[in-house]
Amino acid sequence: MIRKDKIGGISIENIVRETGTPVYIYDEDVLIKRMREFKENFTSSRFQTRVLYASKAFACREIIRLAAREGLGLDVVSGGELHCAGGTPMDRNMIYFHGNNKTRHELKMALSGGAGTIVVDNSQELDELADIQKDAEETTGILIRINPGIEAHTHEYIATARKDSKFGISIDDRHQIREIIQKIIRCENLRFRGFHAHIGSQIFSREAFVKEIEAMAEYIGEMEDFCGIEIEELNLGGGFAVRYTDEDSPIPIGPLCRTIVEACEGKVMQLGLHLKRLTIEPGRGIAAEAGTTVYSVGYKKKTETKEYIFVDGGMADNIRPALYGAEYHCENISRPEGSSRNEYVVAGKCCESGDILIKSALLPETKKGDLLAVYTTGAYGYSMASNYNRLGRPAVVFASGGEARLIMRRETYEDMEALEINRKII
Ligand SMILES: *Cc1c(COP(=O)(O)O)cnc(C)c1O
Repeated sequence: MIRKDKIGGISIENIVRETGTPVYIYDEDVLIKRMREFKENFTSSRFQTRVLYASKAFACREIIRLAAREGLGLDVVSGGELHCAGGTPMDRNMIYFHGNNKTRHELKMALSGGAGTIVVDNSQELDELADIQKDAEETTGILIRINPGIEAHTHEYIATARKDSKFGISIDDRHQIREIIQKIIRCENLRFRGFHAHIGSQIFSREAFVKEIEAMAEYIGEMEDFCGIEIEELNLGGGFAVRYTDEDSPIPIGPLCRTIVEACEGKVMQLGLHLKRLTIEPGRGIAAEAGTTVYSVGYKKKTETKEYIFVDGGMADNIRPALYGAEYHCENISRPEGSSRNEYVVAGKCCESGDILIKSALLPETKKGDLLAVYTTGAYGYSMASNYNRLGRPAVVFASGGEARLIMRRETYEDMEALEINRKII
């Protein structure tokens, strides 16, 4: 069972004394360990490999700096994430820009030194790109997002690769894809490099990744013949599962990386492909388990069937339980572990009945003022946080080796009000 009352060698209580609650605390050593596990295990003697950190999981300059230092690249999906990366040492050539509806302005940012690779999602995007690439000073690599129609076994709302998904072009639309490739080849400042696919999130099955590789490798072989070109790069996306609760047993990163590389090497040899680079994009797999959210317990409520404890955050700092029924494990770190545990519903303070963080938490007798740690909140917590009910977003701390650094300060009422200007515009 997950229970940590120290992070980076410091007691959570001491960190909270400085920051207040709620607060996201990242164990920096776990972040670095995960980055290295991916980097060290995702290698091949047949082709180059790249690991990109999917910054949507948790984006701030500090984590991007760490990724750059550890030799990872970056996956971004908006001008905001691109801009954030711009303030770090992340090499432009290692930045991949995704998204199904990039604006002209965002595409210009990417072309003018923002991203080395744009992952084109549809033919309209390519038309827009073709129109503006003439003014670019550098060449930008292009991957096309393919929807291989493989659904990974995960919660329905986070599956993205079904044939009716909003993302990418169906693997069956060969003619459309050939047209797009030919158009890219005619653009002087764009360089067609290959394909991208992403089959879902929190994927537990090795088989799903192997299926994706088989489908994409065969497709690459076909398209090399069909278009008379060599395809250099295959980007397999992210989706590596992590452990939220005891029920989750993800495949360890090392063996999973090796399975992926070997499956790909096998297909490259079997089909005589020209592949020069294989890329993956873990987000959650790097950030999730490194993060813990710490709340203070406030009031309690007992009904006939349930006992609630209310915390000083909720769906504003962690939307995942309300959005898609995500489950988490928590511990009351102000009480000894003890053997007798009560069943509580952990509810947030937002004005929604659905603002329940954990439906059934077994905790020692919990009192007002206790600190509740919810684990594995490092991905899609802060990055999906909102100001619902005008709650300021919590602070973010990185801790390692007995030192804690405040990475993001808590958002204040004034921060939120600073956006209000009431200026006549027409
Ligand atoms: C969301 C996403 C990722 C990262 O997914 P994780 O589940 O966090 O690993 C990578 N690539 C693309 C294109 C994505 O949409």
